[in-house]
Amino acid sequence: MVGAGPVGLCLALALAQQDIRVCLIEALGDDNFLDQVPRAGSNHPATLEMFDRIGLYAKIEPRGIIAPIFHYWDRAEQALIAAFDHAHLKDDTRFPFVLQCERIKIIEEALKMAKAHPNIDVRLQTTFTGFTQNADIVTAHVTNTAGESETITGRYIVSGEGARSIIRKDLDIEFEGFTYADRTLNIEIAYDFRRHGYAERNYISDPVEWSNLFHWKGPPDRWRVHFPTKPEEDEEALQHPQALQARLQGFLPKAGEYEICGSNLYTVHQRVAKRFRAGRAILAGDSAHVNSPIGAMGMNSGIHDAFNLADKLVRIWRREADESELNRYERQRRHVAVTHTQAQTIRNKRLLAEQDPAVRKRNNEELRRTAEDPKLARAFLLRSSLIESLREAEQIA
Ligand SMILES: Cc1cc2nc3c(=O)[nH]c(=O)nc-3n(C[C@H](O)[C@H](O)[C@H](O)COP(=O)(O)OP(=O)(O)OC[C@H]3O[C@@H](n4cnc5c(N)ncnc54)[C@H](O)[C@@H]3O)c2cc1C
Repeated sequence: MVGAGPVGLCLALALAQQDIRVCLIEALGDDNFLDQVPRAGSNHPATLEMFDRIGLYAKIEPRGIIAPIFHYWDRAEQALIAAFDHAHLKDDTRFPFVLQCERIKIIEEALKMAKAHPNIDVRLQTTFTGFTQNADIVTAHVTNTAGESETITGRYIVSGEGARSIIRKDLDIEFEGFTYADRTLNIEIAYDFRRHGYAERNYISDPVEWSNLFHWKGPPDRWRVHFPTKPEEDEEALQHPQALQARLQGFLPKAGEYEICGSNLYTVHQRVAKRFRAGRAILAGDSAHVNSPIGAMGMNSGIHDAFNLADKLVRIWRREADESELNRYERQRRHVAVTHTQAQTIRNKRLLAEQDPAVRKRNNEELRRTAEDPKLARAFLLRSSLIESLREAEQIA
């Protein structure tokens, strides 16, 4: 397993708990593993069920915020358009809410569990550089802690390396899709937006400056707000403290300055690998698909890949299935990536950034009607929380 991100750690734990030995290779070491930016953090109900299966949910729940409700706002109208309550999913999941808990906390807890598991050989500060495979085994080439070249052999290799996957590139698998010209500015603030009526998760449409606003547990509690930027804007100028204050004051004017805890700027890609498997090498998570964070689908769908793949590898290991199971993994999870994750995140961005007043009005009316009708709201939440994608994938032979 290459990469101790959320996908690599979940897959390693799910396999290890079924008595399969895993070597987990991670470039970061104990000294810098926790220095990573927090990144994704809205965990949907189906993902929480998966975390629970490996004993991870109990560790992260105290570090997160239970958020049953999320909002759509219209900034131009200064109005709350719709409030969606996951309570509508009470018969569909044991976890009818989203847990706001950032990637960094999830991987910190999961890494502790992996280190404690006798079936997982955790190799931190070990950089994967390439691999070879034949009909029976895979040989991974790494640079180990001592800076020496080393080879590690196994039955399969899984890329949980993230978007820049070496395995995907070595296999010459096309990463189909596109990259948005505008980058997203992310600002972290210590300020309680609930006093203005916001929920823990908010999607805010605006023809000029759409945004997302999310709450994270501290101390101190922080809120993250995303803004679009123009392609020609300078990175340093965008993140100058005065520019950040001006953005925030434009978003929600208040007396005194906002307490800004950090900011970053990132490029958003919408891409899916043409294949998720070549022989004994398999892609999962960001190495297989990347998308905009609007809707919180990247990390969630990557974790769903990990559990789907774990179930198949366990059956192959126990000789209950042959390797064609891995083609089914590709059929199921690639279908979800294209039809659900890509389609929904592209649609979400279009919805928030829509400029035509007539279309905006129609969108708002539809959101209102959907949130207020229990049947429509449940159908909407099944889609937005990726439960529908899992049910649909299960039907793919
Ligand atoms: C800056 C940033 C901000 C983001 N913000 C959001 C957000 O707000 N909301 C959202 O939904 N999604 C967000 N995402 C996406 C989300 O974080 C990913 O979808 C998710 O982390 C994917 O998990 P993964 O395990 O597949 O890969 P990753 O989390 O990327 O983990 C990959 C791991 O592999 C290791 N690795 C990579 N190459 C090697 C190598 N050669 N050798 C050994 N180890 C290696 C890395 O060090 C890392 O630990 C963000 C992504 C980025 C980059």
